[in-house]
Amino acid sequence: MPELPEVETTVRFLRKKVRNRAFIDVWTDFAKMLQIRQGSTGQVKKGNFEDFRKQLKNKKIQKIWRRGKNIILELSCDKTLLIHQKLTGHLLVGYWIMDNGYWKPKSRGFLGEKVNTYIHLLFTMDNGLMLGLSDLRKFAKVELWDTEKLKESKAILSLGPEPLAKDFTFEKFKEYLKNKKGKIKQVLMNQEVIAGIGNIYSDEILWEAKVNPCKEIKRLSDKEIKKIYDAMRKILEKAIKVQGESISDYRTPTGERGGFDKFRKVYRREGEKCSRCQAVIKKTKIGGRSAHFCPKCQTL
Ligand SMILES: [Zn+2]
Repeated sequence: MPELPEVETTVRFLRKKVRNRAFIDVWTDFAKMLQIRQGSTGQVKKGNFEDFRKQLKNKKIQKIWRRGKNIILELSCDKTLLIHQKLTGHLLVGYWIMDNGYWKPKSRGFLGEKVNTYIHLLFTMDNGLMLGLSDLRKFAKVELWDTEKLKESKAILSLGPEPLAKDFTFEKFKEYLKNKKGKIKQVLMNQEVIAGIGNIYSDEILWEAKVNPCKEIKRLSDKEIKKIYDAMRKILEKAIKVQGESISDYRTPTGERGGFDKFRKVYRREGEKCSRCQAVIKKTKIGGRSAHFCPKCQTL
């Protein structure tokens, strides 16, 4: 699943390419992924795709930002599109043409690679540029909200702080963690504690910090918490710089691989040697999710 660095990469690209553009049309072959949210609770409005299409038409994208793993497009007329790419979804920018019932990229290149060809949603902008969503598993969600309602919604307010925010200091991080229970990996991945970190980066952060993913929060020393905090900022910033990780389905909006693979130390590297101490990297399960770690430099 795209995590903070991948979503941030997408958001930065979209800002360059589609900010100040207006939607002129939207196409989908899976209307279930689109929802109109309304009222103070943002309940799902029973409607159809035509409703969604009508409401989106001619709306201009005024502001593009990220909150956790959500992509947020603020539109004219106080509407906002919230996009969560979930497991395999990733937004792509380019030009496509319909060919025998399939959207084919207009020119040769990365957009034609298999992972980018599961186009189930396609927006056309007023300058002809298109914004597509390739999503093999079709779990992605695209919701149309009233802007003010979204900002007050649980979807946004329940999220924990942004790990890279300037005011998210070590002191605040420590305060935040001290009130939590559970194993550090699970807590790092809990979106209501800290927003944007998932399976890949929690493993990488804990390896960098030399902390075992199964360690209980209450057993962490201040020194360990500081190491986790520093590793979190370092790894996430590094990953954004190289445009994220593409070990799974994520690709940048041009359809290219992110460059974090070169820096990936433990995630899906079980059986390989730890680059720091040469011990063999192990994989375990924590609450149904996998965790990868070095048993020698991340002792419990
Ligand atoms: Zn090691």
